[in-house]
Amino acid sequence: TDNPLLASDRQPEDVDAALRPKTLAEFVGQAAAKGNLQVFIESARSRREAMDHVLFFGPPGLGKTTLAQIVARELGVGFRATSGPVIAKAGDLAALLTNLEHGDVLFIDEIHRLNPVVEEVLYPAMEDRALDLMIGEGPSARSVRIDLPPFTLIGATTRQGLLQTPLRDRFGIPVRLNFYTVPELEHVVTRGAHLMGVGIDKGGATEIARRARGTPRVAGRLLRRVRDFAHVAGSERITRAVADDSLTRLEVDALGLDAQDRRYLTMIADIYRGGPVGVETLAAGLSEPRDTIEEVIEPYLIQLGMVARTARGRCLNDAGWRHLGLAPPAGTQG
Ligand code: ADP
Repeated sequence: TDNPLLASDRQPEDVDAALRPKTLAEFVGQAAAKGNLQVFIESARSRREAMDHVLFFGPPGLGKTTLAQIVARELGVGFRATSGPVIAKAGDLAALLTNLEHGDVLFIDEIHRLNPVVEEVLYPAMEDRALDLMIGEGPSARSVRIDLPPFTLIGATTRQGLLQTPLRDRFGIPVRLNFYTVPELEHVVTRGAHLMGVGIDKGGATEIARRARGTPRVAGRLLRRVRDFAHVAGSERITRAVADDSLTRLEVDALGLDAQDRRYLTMIADIYRGGPVGVETLAAGLSEPRDTIEEVIEPYLIQLGMVARTARGRCLNDAGWRHLGLAPPAGTQG
């Protein structure tokens, strides 16, 4: 990636827990998801049972990990976190599961990237709270069943459709996270500035929020970079002018698109005359993994109506042409 602002991997600021909301009340936005979770949390708490399994799905940086931690905290249970690609063998998952205590939350990020053999172990664990282990090899091999304590699995994935149906069906509570509105992101930015001890006025918060791609993680990163610019410039508060100047220098444009987004749009426009063009072709042309294109770059461009995913490939819409300052070629818009 030529712009580290949107790298899909975990950045230090995510590891640094300072900005993470710790309660449902502090968690900005996602009203529908929060309202439902509140009910399920209360119900599980009062029945003293493990809450049903939850699947969070939505683009990176919208708060899936944060919400999983909040659910555990509000349930008053332990929280263990891992991720799909990290669990290499069935035995690794078995070790995690047998270490859980009554009611604990086990969070599996990128659950769509679980190895199929490991996924098989997860099915009985989720459904019957049991582990089927094979002991020995060859003709003398036999399977033993181990009971697990009641627990809540929280899975996170970028798109629900990436999961195998049998896995998807085992989540009682599927929760979709949507891009945030500008007022919600203003709230995230103002709260973040307050926690960081930086002054910010309404105009500054709005400017960062408008350019944060609907994503709290991006809002947090932009805020930190703007804070750096403000600090070096000797400015005590983040004003609209300071925010605009810093973000422009970071090549984040008025709609929040960065160099990587513009490279993607420009490639479809210039080389493929607006498409359709296959995602693999774009990935090769941009030297980006297909996952980054589909999970990080495209969702927001689709939300803005600049790009459409069609059966024949990606197409640039009028809004995409306009954003590049180009006229769509006559007769190609469908
Ligand atoms: P995901 O797991 O969906 O990729 P995270 O939960 O890691 O996203 O959130 C990314 C960052 O954004 C975190 O640092 C968190 O502090 C911040 N964040 C996410 N959602 C919210 C929210 N609703 N309010 C405030 N900050 C948020």
